[in-house]
Amino acid sequence: MALRKLRTDDDPVLRKPTKQVKEITDRVKLLIEDMFDTMYHEQGVGLAAPQVGILKRICVIDIYEGTPYVLINPVIIQRDGEQVGPEGCLSFPGRVGEVSRPNHVIAEATNLEGERYQIEGEGLLARAICHELDHLDGKVFVDIAEDLHYESEDQ
Ligand code: ZN
Repeated sequence: MALRKLRTDDDPVLRKPTKQVKEITDRVKLLIEDMFDTMYHEQGVGLAAPQVGILKRICVIDIYEGTPYVLINPVIIQRDGEQVGPEGCLSFPGRVGEVSRPNHVIAEATNLEGERYQIEGEGLLARAICHELDHLDGKVFVDIAEDLHYESEDQ
């Protein structure tokens, strides 16, 4: 198990575009393993490579505790409906805001075996897919959230 250092707040790497993964090398596999370790350690439900300082189109998601998804070179191919709800991000510790997202999305991505597959999400999974894919384009939720505040202010 290896944890990577999380990039946070005004770290410029969070707002840079990322590059397509051309080949799933051992280095890429190790990165993905470390991303899962880091995400679980921080009790997150998703993590994108720029959040650990790597500008590659890779993210990992596990919102159901034990159903991990690896998304390499993901693209959203269908989006429907709308949901508005609270969102947070490991790169912006303690902050929360309301974000509007599609309620249902289908994305296509490459898995660790190098095969393209489709991931379909509703509700929280749709939100997670959109949030993580935004990271790959250098977009972060704090720039689109309404009522952005620190969680500690909720009490
Ligand atoms: Zn995030």
